[in-house]
Amino acid sequence: MAADIPLISVRVGKSLRQILVTGLDLKRHLLFNNDIKTYTGKKTVKFNCETFTTLNKQKNKPILLATLESPTGLLSYGNEKFQGMFKVITSPKGDSCDIVNEVPMEAYISTLLTKEMNPKWPIEALKAQAVAARTYALHKMKTQQVTKELGNEAYYDLESSEKHQVGGNFFDATDTTNKASLETKGEVLTTQTGKIQPIFFHAKCGGKTLRPDQVWHNREEGYQSVNCPFCHDIGPKGWTNFISRERLKSFFLWASEQGYLKERLTGDFSSIVLVPDEIDKFTANFYINDRPYIVEKAVLRKYFGRVLFPSNSFAIKAQGNSIAISGEGLGHGVGLCQMGAFAMAMRGWSYKKILAHYFPGHVLKKMY
Ligand SMILES: [Zn+2]
Repeated sequence: MAADIPLISVRVGKSLRQILVTGLDLKRHLLFNNDIKTYTGKKTVKFNCETFTTLNKQKNKPILLATLESPTGLLSYGNEKFQGMFKVITSPKGDSCDIVNEVPMEAYISTLLTKEMNPKWPIEALKAQAVAARTYALHKMKTQQVTKELGNEAYYDLESSEKHQVGGNFFDATDTTNKASLETKGEVLTTQTGKIQPIFFHAKCGGKTLRPDQVWHNREEGYQSVNCPFCHDIGPKGWTNFISRERLKSFFLWASEQGYLKERLTGDFSSIVLVPDEIDKFTANFYINDRPYIVEKAVLRKYFGRVLFPSNSFAIKAQGNSIAISGEGLGHGVGLCQMGAFAMAMRGWSYKKILAHYFPGHVLKKMY
């Protein structure tokens, strides 16, 4: 393993009462008393997290309790096998532990491709995804974003969950995902000025991608909304769902309270009129008591959830006594459209060309 590959720390389990780790010739290092123990042969090491409560009482913040590694480079936790090392971290209250996997970036990316994409997809699509996921991970690592958000040392860079991105099992990685990861080794997308910022991806945009500020209000340099004529015939087809007028009314009360409307709604409102809407507009217009209101579609999705609003690409209109939402796509719509990337790779596009399409304001750069 080349020494120049960064190690990323991924939280793979949280708030655990006990932790069982299995491996060959395990080396267990307790950091609070510098006790190092090696277990010969295949052994399972158990941590009872409650027993470390006293350790934490004085500190009131997470502490790195132990590290575990095997000369084979492989460890088992739960039903999964991981590469690299495990770190056991106590919760601030000291009544449970988190488990963090420290793993070389390229190994992490290879397993991630099996969860966040499909290892059977064409390699150029997997390579585009590898660059996007690596950029996201490296940004979290370099900015220590998680630690900053928590206000104390987090001991990990990101979570293996939908909140961040989902990493995988060592056994899920395939020759193709390894190849996609290694052939793009160290490559990330940066802004024109060389800054690493989060690169987002989603399943299917439905015709047009969105900028981060259109969905989450955070401005990220370089993002553009681009047309995607590629994903239309791939994956889930268009969708239509219905909500009642009553629920739309509840939405407006909530949106007003949360400050999503320019003007606060006051008192009772008797009439909501929907202005004709188009799927490729990212805002929807309404008249409430004859006053105009604009709502970002992402706010509707935030309130009603992903089941009723599978994507941010939809048109909303009155249909009889209810409201019809007809849309395309799956996911938030920002950045790389995975099904679009699949379609482009099937047509013979390279990962560089795919990335250049979705990220025209970014530059591909090799960091290591
Ligand atoms: Zn698309």
